[in-house]
Amino acid sequence: MNPRDLRKHFGHLLLIALSLLLLSWLTDWGSYLALVVLLLYVARLKWQQWRLYHWLNQGKQSEPPEAKGLWGQIFDLLYSIRKRGQRDSERLVQALKRVKNSAQAMPDGIVMLNSKGNIDWWNQASEQLLGLKQGDKGQLISFLLRDPKFLAFLQNPSPNVQIQAPNDAQRLLQLTLVQYNQNEQLLLARDITRLKQLEQMRQDFVANASHELRTPLTVFRGYLETMLDYSDQLSPVFQRALKQMQQQTERMNNLVNDLLVLTRLDSDIRAEEQSLVDVEKLLTEIAEDAMELNDAKQHQIEVKIETKLGLLANENELRSAISNLVYNAVHYTPEQGMIRISWSLQGDHAVIAVQDNGIGIEPHHITRLTERFYRVDSSRATATGGTGLGLAIVKHVLQLHHAQLQIDSELDQGSTFSAVFPLTLTQPMVELNAKISD
Ligand code: ADP
Repeated sequence: MNPRDLRKHFGHLLLIALSLLLLSWLTDWGSYLALVVLLLYVARLKWQQWRLYHWLNQGKQSEPPEAKGLWGQIFDLLYSIRKRGQRDSERLVQALKRVKNSAQAMPDGIVMLNSKGNIDWWNQASEQLLGLKQGDKGQLISFLLRDPKFLAFLQNPSPNVQIQAPNDAQRLLQLTLVQYNQNEQLLLARDITRLKQLEQMRQDFVANASHELRTPLTVFRGYLETMLDYSDQLSPVFQRALKQMQQQTERMNNLVNDLLVLTRLDSDIRAEEQSLVDVEKLLTEIAEDAMELNDAKQHQIEVKIETKLGLLANENELRSAISNLVYNAVHYTPEQGMIRISWSLQGDHAVIAVQDNGIGIEPHHITRLTERFYRVDSSRATATGGTGLGLAIVKHVLQLHHAQLQIDSELDQGSTFSAVFPLTLTQPMVELNAKISD
């Protein structure tokens, strides 16, 4: 109702009230007439209210009652509000239906869990992958999926966990938990059987190819060594050729060995032998080997031990990773250079660092150094006999030990490669020594 209509409405009321007042002043029956008019007015009000109530009480589709004036406008306004609300809720229902249908069509399993871990809703794929069925609504997910790896994952969530499908042992699932709203969670299940098979095929191929190459290489190396023993009887051209052949077979041999190490690290059947490693002893032995390796360059190799703690690790893997870092330092540091190998505690971490003042690395290479076969400059690697797999092995070993590789380097100034371990992997060596003496 606009202000003009409102004024008109009040004008009419005022006119009626004044007429009734005048009538009751001039005549005896005027006050009775006023009362009758008032009663009629109230009755009309009640009747319109009843019509409004009756209409609202009917279904949403019913048309509003016919009325004139203010009541007509009230009915029309309510009708349009009702229609708008209806349209909005239909749109919402459609959107919800679309979201639900798309979730149903997903090839991955989606399970909605409430704050207590009870199942609220799941899509069709979850029925195939996780074996959920009607009647499981409201059940605890930990009650339906009993795999110990999954239960540990629920207690201590990591990015994801891989388990066998509950109703098909041949199928491998990758499960991820995603938090939404406040405490609710989405459990996502993906079938990674095919992916795993392909990965396995790739690993098997590399492992088999490397094994197959080993035998001919050993024969090659043996004959080359024998021929080099008699090289003084050959012309200088053949002598040079034999030397180069020997260098290249050495490279090939290193490559095959590194590939075999990587496949072993990749494989699930890797021996998980963890022991308390005496880091001081390990670093000293590696430093001694390094000195022998490159006697000609006369490096100053220093071992700095700042903590007597031992490290819980697979000793062979740790030795291979740190040796790679130290041999790299030897290879990429010019004569008379300095190499420092240290073991220290830094905040929440324990760090084995290999520092050199060698040729260094330009910043844009650093993030890519741990990629397989990545080399800063292929001529560098050819000169050192490098395979381009050393740092990939280091990164892999450290990952398996929940540790990280940190690289700081400046061109022509030197590099520091740090293996950063969580402090939880350290333990005092005395405990071990005490146990041995017991
Ligand atoms: P490679 O067998 O070629 O040494 P790595 O994976 O061990 O392969 O190293 C990758 C590259 O990183 C090397 O080619 C080299 O250019 C660079 N690099 C590694 N360590 C050092 C270092 N201490 N100083 C300078 N460059 C290094």
